[in-house]
Amino acid sequence: MSIVVKNVTKLYGEQKALDDVSFKANPGEIVGFLGPNGAGKSTMMKIITGFIPSNEGETYVCDLDVSKVPLKTKKRIGYLAEQNPLYYDMYVREYLSFIAGVFKINKTAARIDELIEMVGLTVEQNKKIGQLSKGYKQRVGLAQALLHDPEVLILDEPTTGLDPNQLEEIRGLIKKIGSSKTVMLSTHIMQEVEAICDRVIIINKGKIVANEKATNLSTLLSSKNVIQIEFEKAIDEKALRSIAGVQSAEKQGNNNYLIQVNSETDIRNQLFQFAITQETTVLTLKKEELKLEDIFKQLTT
Ligand code: ADP
Ligand code: MG
Repeated sequence: MSIVVKNVTKLYGEQKALDDVSFKANPGEIVGFLGPNGAGKSTMMKIITGFIPSNEGETYVCDLDVSKVPLKTKKRIGYLAEQNPLYYDMYVREYLSFIAGVFKINKTAARIDELIEMVGLTVEQNKKIGQLSKGYKQRVGLAQALLHDPEVLILDEPTTGLDPNQLEEIRGLIKKIGSSKTVMLSTHIMQEVEAICDRVIIINKGKIVANEKATNLSTLLSSKNVIQIEFEKAIDEKALRSIAGVQSAEKQGNNNYLIQVNSETDIRNQLFQFAITQETTVLTLKKEELKLEDIFKQLTT
């Protein structure tokens, strides 16, 4: 098993940042670690990478106990920390050779060439890190994490702060890397999980509230659509509730209704037909996707 976390609890003074957390990541899996700010994502990642100890529980990377053999485990892990700490005054190649030295990598120049090519840094390779755009800085961070060819990659919010183009490029890159490594990446963006992850672990207030295959999660999401509809005049609520797929319909104002749909069927067409039979018209119709916060509410209550 690539990552095994067993009953880990972490306290910062009085505050419980992680509360009895357990999960596993299989070899070759891209695991999304999803949660709002302050949920405990970075704390968990720092424990897995051996940067801070836990108060209780055990953490294994490639079947090695992180707290017992920290150096050995660090050799198996590539880590891109949340702030992506880089030396802005160093040149890209200079920085990567410095990191190669830390990991005592053989044939440094050849390996750096390989990495620069892999993460798409070729055109920027002769610049100082401080001169690079945020997206290219992330590439340097990824190259740094991959240099010693680790089996497990821990990426803490690797796409936060990137523009849409950079975002897509970095996601593509992570997906490519993920085909040969176990990747755990944290994010607070639902779509990111859907875009790149095989599995999603949702954490909230230090507790795991879901651990699902990503495909299951999207079914979970799409199975709970919400439609906001406004008719021109009052309608028969009973008739509205009898439309196939409608789970509940709640009156929210004059002729406004909030409809919960419990199936994957799209009932928007039926709603327009319904308006005709009620001899009225639809003034507004808005289909809302459940937001991360809503899922959290559902998963934590
Ligand atoms: P996330 O990465 O999901 O945003 P963190 O793991 O950074 O969450 O933080 C989890 C909780 O622990 C937060 O409430 C945060 O304020 C707290 N915390 C994190 N690091 C420290 C620290 N070094 N000292 C005290 N509290 C901390
Ligand atoms: Mg964090």
